[in-house]
Amino acid sequence: MAAASTASKPSKTTLRRRTKPSREDLPKDVNLCEHCTAKCCRYFALPLETPSSREEFESLRWFLLHEQATAFTEEGEWYVCIHTVCKHLQPDNRCGIYETRPPICREYTTDNCEYEDDWVYDQYFETAEQVVEYMEAVLGPGGEEIGDGRKKKNRRRSIRSPKPPLLPLLAG
Ligand code: SF4
Ligand code: SF4
Repeated sequence: MAAASTASKPSKTTLRRRTKPSREDLPKDVNLCEHCTAKCCRYFALPLETPSSREEFESLRWFLLHEQATAFTEEGEWYVCIHTVCKHLQPDNRCGIYETRPPICREYTTDNCEYEDDWVYDQYFETAEQVVEYMEAVLGPGGEEIGDGRKKKNRRRSIRSPKPPLLPLLAG
């Protein structure tokens, strides 16, 4: 018989969500990173051509068929984002190769970083299905390029009335 667990339940105090000071509340000489869980070391994002055709959306869908891949837009630019932790991030959220970290890490500043938890993406795609849904919406029925499907749809659904049949008197 297995021994009964002696682990105690966490108290309400330990369950309470830890909050971090807001950027504005910290003194100017304090390094923001000291209060962060190294959010910028836990992903990388690569810019994409803005998808405008079925083929390009299919490529985006392919990205999102992979684990830990998402896509987002920011100020009209498209990115694929891979949520993966840098191999050199230490358990205390510090860089393990600080002296030799790559330029991309050195040049990244806290000025516009993702320290806060309340920001949102302009658009965010977590699944391949969301890409398909968006693709069908912007391409329109049967469309291969943005705008293409809408034109075809409009051709099918003309706002003009169909030609009326001739009156029997004129038809005879
Ligand atoms: S640069 Fe910003 S996101 Fe990165 S560790 Fe510092 S505070 Fe966190
Ligand atoms: S090299 Fe250091 S600073 Fe750069 S992503 Fe890895 S842990 Fe972060």
